[in-house]
Amino acid sequence: MEQTATTHPHQLPDAHRAEAEAALEVLLDSSLDRIVDMVCTSRDGAYEALAHDGRVAFRRTADGSYERIAVSGRDPLADQTTAKFTPLADERANPFPHRSENAYPHAFDQIAQLFDAPAAPDLCVLHSAAHNWEDQGGHLGEHGSLGLVQARAPFVLAGKGVRKLGLVPRSARLVDVAPTICALLGCAPLGDHDGKFLAVQDGRVLTDLLDPDERPRTVVGFLFDGTNSNVLYDMAARGEAPNVARLIEMGVALGHGALASLPTVTLANHTSIITGAHPGHHGVLNNAWYDRAAAEQVITNSSATWPWSMQHLFPGVETIHHAVHRTWGDAFTASVNEPCDTGADYSTFDFFRRGEVPPIPKDPFGLPHTTERFVRPSKDYSWSSVVDHMGVDQALGIIAGNYRDASYPTPRFMWCNFTLTDAAMHEGGPYSEVAAASVRDSDGRIGEILSAFERAGVFDECAFALVADHGMEQNDPTCRGDWDVALRAAGVEARDEAYGFLYFGVPRG
Ligand SMILES: [Zn+2]
Repeated sequence: MEQTATTHPHQLPDAHRAEAEAALEVLLDSSLDRIVDMVCTSRDGAYEALAHDGRVAFRRTADGSYERIAVSGRDPLADQTTAKFTPLADERANPFPHRSENAYPHAFDQIAQLFDAPAAPDLCVLHSAAHNWEDQGGHLGEHGSLGLVQARAPFVLAGKGVRKLGLVPRSARLVDVAPTICALLGCAPLGDHDGKFLAVQDGRVLTDLLDPDERPRTVVGFLFDGTNSNVLYDMAARGEAPNVARLIEMGVALGHGALASLPTVTLANHTSIITGAHPGHHGVLNNAWYDRAAAEQVITNSSATWPWSMQHLFPGVETIHHAVHRTWGDAFTASVNEPCDTGADYSTFDFFRRGEVPPIPKDPFGLPHTTERFVRPSKDYSWSSVVDHMGVDQALGIIAGNYRDASYPTPRFMWCNFTLTDAAMHEGGPYSEVAAASVRDSDGRIGEILSAFERAGVFDECAFALVADHGMEQNDPTCRGDWDVALRAAGVEARDEAYGFLYFGVPRG
């Protein structure tokens, strides 16, 4: 923890203490034990994680580390390690781990950062690894919690300036991605702070992955939304994702993953990857939340709100694009299909903000790298295939120097976001054939982009990053239920945003 964006961390107000206690009584009851892993809160100057079978209170110390101040029963945050449930066989041998078997990586820091935001909930409910959301169409893959498999994203770094280490048994955090890319590019550090490139930065440079004697001219980032890292590495090793395998061979992949920030959901972590800050410090707190000060619901992760979602960044938060421009005033950066695009010279979402729509194919039939078998029955697969195809189209145009009648120089930094993997891994679960098809299709798409850099004659001057925004965990379709039903039945008045952010004393919505 190097920087806090807000000086007004959220604490449970005294006025809502009784409601919170009533809610905790319901949430921690044995009848919800299968679906509620734990509940987090911030009160009396401490953070707490409370589970059915035990609780822990902890606080930040002056040096930025954490200390437990009270434990009763089983400490729900006892295991914060990152090395379990990998590789794939090990993950599959331990399906939907109970909290006593699970690990919650960097849990103290993750819970504390969330409550640093003024819009933090009064209670944050973490669903269990097994929980299957009926409301989400009974998807077999889930994320959002702090459990290891839901938090664990793949991270591959490759190309010029990256050491060739292959798949290594270690982890990092998603907030480390932005400072590491800045260091790889050779961006100027802020002031005399070695390793600090972004005004609000929680992450640190993964120095030992970099070759200090080589600097790429361009860094290209690929984000495969919602990709289970064990599944991705396994497919690369089996020849099913040859372009991902090529990147791993050209550089390094973190076998234990890059751990997402709490909540381990899309918009919060896209923004963490590109700003180097935790959600509670960059301001895009969740896919949806309640803003007490403005007395309104905020929705960031929907196709209607993506173009404007970055208005919720806290003042002063910077992206990789800002760090690049501060270093090279004339550098060109591009952000393809990525809602966290602040500071980019080219962004897909500029089209929407200008009231235009980029040329979206009407349907995915006949598009390259599109598995027809899943496009037909699955609406989500179909839509994501079209969107991701459109992203490749933009990237190829930019690399070739021209897209939609505008000319572009070679980008210093380009970010390309792909959505298909998330749609497919939710729908079928991470081990399904539809999930595998989504990885194959996405691998083919990044292959097109790699080839375009080769055609442009600059491939050897490039470095590449591949990451996801969170993990994806197989759940148990028999483990259903909704704590909001139990809360209502008990007469507890709470507003629940994005499945787990509970607010008291605000309209139910
Ligand atoms: Zn996502």
